[in-house]
Amino acid sequence: MQKIEHIGIAVKDLSASIPLFEKLLNTACYKTEIVESEKVKTAFFESGESKVELLESMNDDGVIARYIEKKGEGMHHIAFAVENIEAEMQRLSGEGFQLLNTTPKIGADNKLVCFLHPKNTNGVLIELCQEIEN
Ligand code: ZN
Repeated sequence: MQKIEHIGIAVKDLSASIPLFEKLLNTACYKTEIVESEKVKTAFFESGESKVELLESMNDDGVIARYIEKKGEGMHHIAFAVENIEAEMQRLSGEGFQLLNTTPKIGADNKLVCFLHPKNTNGVLIELCQEIEN
């Protein structure tokens, strides 16, 4: 894995959280994007080499809505940049980690993504992401 690409934070209301994180990080949100497949609205901030991704659910029974209902707002996942997502998925699956998707999915911010089940990672949801070459 190359580096922590971003940290994902589950929020109830992007319109309140975007200005909050702009103040906190002292930088403007550089992108908002809807990920249809996950039914989430996302907002991205840069902090040095890494990013912060805010996630708001688009419906009441989406993954982010259910997460907030159970655990409240807060840290949702850590995303690591990888060079070759398929090779990394194969390696991790061989090591006994459970992949939540068996083929890479199109995620936010022009990435191929795969999530690992938190039950094998000390309760932390891990995302692998590979930049899509244009
Ligand atoms: Zn993410």
